[in-house]
Amino acid sequence: MPDLVRQHLIDPEICIRCETCAEMCTRDAISYDGVNVVVDFNKCTYSMDCIAPCPTGAIDNWVMVEKPYSLEQQFDWDELPADVGAEPADDEAEAMEDEVSKMLEVAHAGAGGASRRPVTSSQPRVNLYTRASPVVAEVQGNYRITDADAESDVRHIILDLGGNALPVLEGQSLGVVPPGADGQGRKHHMRLYSVCSPRDGERPNHNNIAFTVKRVVEQRDDGVFRGIASNYMCDLSRGDRIELTGPYGNTFLMPDNPEANIIMVCTGTGSAPFRAMTERRRRTMPNAPGKLLLFFGARTPGELPYFGPLMKLPDSLIQRELVFSREPGRPKEYVQDRIHKCSDQVAALLESGQTHIYVCGLKGMEEGVETALEEVCSGHGLDWRALRNVMRDEGRLHVETY
Ligand SMILES: Cc1cc2nc3c(=O)[nH]c(=O)nc-3n(C[C@H](O)[C@H](O)[C@H](O)COP(=O)(O)OP(=O)(O)OC[C@H]3O[C@@H](n4cnc5c(N)ncnc54)[C@H](O)[C@@H]3O)c2cc1C
Repeated sequence: MPDLVRQHLIDPEICIRCETCAEMCTRDAISYDGVNVVVDFNKCTYSMDCIAPCPTGAIDNWVMVEKPYSLEQQFDWDELPADVGAEPADDEAEAMEDEVSKMLEVAHAGAGGASRRPVTSSQPRVNLYTRASPVVAEVQGNYRITDADAESDVRHIILDLGGNALPVLEGQSLGVVPPGADGQGRKHHMRLYSVCSPRDGERPNHNNIAFTVKRVVEQRDDGVFRGIASNYMCDLSRGDRIELTGPYGNTFLMPDNPEANIIMVCTGTGSAPFRAMTERRRRTMPNAPGKLLLFFGARTPGELPYFGPLMKLPDSLIQRELVFSREPGRPKEYVQDRIHKCSDQVAALLESGQTHIYVCGLKGMEEGVETALEEVCSGHGLDWRALRNVMRDEGRLHVETY
């Protein structure tokens, strides 16, 4: 394989030539010749300053090339060249892509058919980094986001990508291969983690990302079982380095349309992609007419990841329906119960062609949510079975459970 370098390009088919990116670039790397707006490979430092302000997403393109395209070549073209980085680099990379596809197929099976991405979502980049050629990030912070005395230890882990380009969209996942080997001396297999920060970084316009990770610990008859990857991640300290692969996922993505209503249903770390989507809306279109409606279930407020920050979001941005199943002195409530309570509102939203539903979290939540939606629909003259297929085919129904 020849050595490849990563090059930042602008999609001439989508770019509206507003030159906002050129204004934002502190390296003077972006220029416009009256035909195309282009990035100078020799000046671009992947600062990502230009990414968020781009109104169309045309700026967010990355290719792996043997020899970077010159300014002259870029001024001359009217569409982007093929992304050679997306091709499998070798057998191992190809096998890994298959492995991830299968993992995502299982995770998305609850949609009842092949998922599609929202019509207005940005174009995702996938498979840029492989196990053989991962991107290395440095841990900036690792904070517990459930109460100290809560049963579940869920962490908010922030990773600094330094000078590495890792374009991710809200809803995408990255791969983590824990270091070391299993009892038989085989390398550990890769685990997927949803990115919980929006595309312009955990801190706006910084080249960093964040994960929401739950430490897997199980009491068993023969002792305590500790999940390999989740414990590795939850134990990371500031300054540690971690290898990542991906990004992965090209359907569980948010619509870029401000008119889109987004219904989000989650438990536990299923909240990760919804944090990213909510933050994207808050940063880029806080007054969007489209509704954000979140159904989030946990045992108690102390067990609900991001409870504090969630409560601080303005009501005008998001409607929070937080439900608890183990709050002392209160009847048990699960997300499906609250969907029932909000049935008039949910049914009205489902009647709109602008509504998208996302379900994320433990596999066990799927059935209850599905039944609740079916009952809400039948109580309002809608046929959920038919509607869900239409929504899925239109890229408006998304399930990711694990
Ligand atoms: C699309 C997707 C997105 C995801 N996003 C997130 C996320 O944002 N946050 C998050 O925390 N998780 C997420 N996950 C789950 C994550 O990928 C891991 O599965 C999870 O962290 C557990 O991994 P682990 O290595 O800690 O546990 P593992 O070591 O893989 O163990 C997982 C389970 O396998 C069984 N098991 C494994 N090894 C043994 C053994 N030797 N003996 C007995 N039982 C065993 C146990 O039942 C255990 O509970 C996501 C999964 C998918 C598919």
